[in-house]
This record gives sequence, C-alpha cells and structure tokens, in this order.
Amino acid sequence: MFIVFRCRKCGRYLYAGKDVKTRQCTCGHRNNLRKVRIVARAKNEVEASEIVRKMQGSGTGFRSLA
Ligand SMILES: [Zn+2]
Repeated sequence: MFIVFRCRKCGRYLYAGKDVKTRQCTCGHRNNLRKVRIVARAKNEVEASEIVRKMQGSGTGFRSLA
C-alpha cells in the first residue's frame, strides 16, 4: 500500500510506502507521514506515481515557490 500526500511546506504531491515514517520532498522539507494529509491511496508504486502525476497536472495552480 502506498499513500499520496502533499508536502507540508511547498504543497507538492508526493507518495511513499505506507510503512515509511518520513519522506523528504525535493524542496528539502522532511514530511512526517503521521502528520500529512493523505489525499489518495494506491496499491503499488506505479499506481501512486500515476496519481501524483495526475494531481500535479490537474490545474491546482501550483507553481514552484523557489
Ligand atoms: Zn516540499
């Protein structure tokens, strides 16, 4: 099982294995997976990355804050 969530700092969509405790975003923020809001769940990594790609590109208006 994989979870899809948003980085608490920059809002990027990320995914991680359900049993992973922390996941570092490309922005450098280390997300504690117990505190993030889960936006979707996936059976496997392929499905998770698919969801991330769709969400990232679905016009949430997110642009890099860098
Ligand atoms: Zn981030």
